[in-house]
Amino acid sequence: MKTIYLCAICNVSSGNCSEDCAFCTQSAYNGAKIDTYKQKDEQIILKEAYLAKQNRASGFCLVTAGKGLDDKKLDFICHIATKIKKEIDINLIACNGTATIEQLKELKKAGIGSYNHNLETSREYYKKICTTHGWEERFQTCLNIKEVGIKLCTGGIFGLGESNEDRISFVKSLQELKPTSTPLNFFHPNPKLPLPHKIMDTNEALKWIRYTKEKLKNSIIMIAGGREITFKDRWMEIFDMGANSIVIGNYLTTKGDEPDRDIQTIEKLGYSIAQNCQ
Ligand code: SF4
Repeated sequence: MKTIYLCAICNVSSGNCSEDCAFCTQSAYNGAKIDTYKQKDEQIILKEAYLAKQNRASGFCLVTAGKGLDDKKLDFICHIATKIKKEIDINLIACNGTATIEQLKELKKAGIGSYNHNLETSREYYKKICTTHGWEERFQTCLNIKEVGIKLCTGGIFGLGESNEDRISFVKSLQELKPTSTPLNFFHPNPKLPLPHKIMDTNEALKWIRYTKEKLKNSIIMIAGGREITFKDRWMEIFDMGANSIVIGNYLTTKGDEPDRDIQTIEKLGYSIAQNCQ
């Protein structure tokens, strides 16, 4: 029986980011109307971690806005990770941007089992969607994650205006990294973002999930942001294409479907929900 992994995400710090990623509502350049805060209250993060466990998520991801880790962020993520680990049996993922080997070692000691850092798109197309930092830095962080022995979670976003060649190149780079899990997002338009306000065609999106799975047979293919608006009531077809994981609950700055409904759908299809991460 096919097993589906569920992952919940927590936006530890939101918005006011000094980077200019064209797809991101948290960039100060884009001026999107979102909730902004420096650091979520510890008790709220713990509550969200308990809720993730209750919703049968095997992973809980601690996300911070910004280009990369600094001492303050690193201290806080280590602190909150240690606290969660003491109380809840759940795989912790950190997603805090570019990170050095030393920083990643600290996170590992604090109980972080996986690190998410997306390549986002192809090396060639990246400069069209971000000018304040480079794709190579992202790739290097992925290499650092592997070097430290934390599970690598890296993927990206489809529907940013990239060509099919870009998509092939992006997946090829993922193949080089052999990630444990590959989150695939589908662009969620926002009037403030400097990209065409276009939702990817459902059949096209399904085709690229299948393509990615074919090239990354051993990776967990996780469908993340944009699932609801891209696939609508056909979202369960993602599993036929080889996806075996979804993000449940809300995303960083957009709302997701009710976890209960997603779980019911998955079980009705005859799939089981994973108890733990591999
Ligand atoms: S993707 Fe990350 S680095 Fe880029 S603008 Fe958003 S929060 Fe900042």
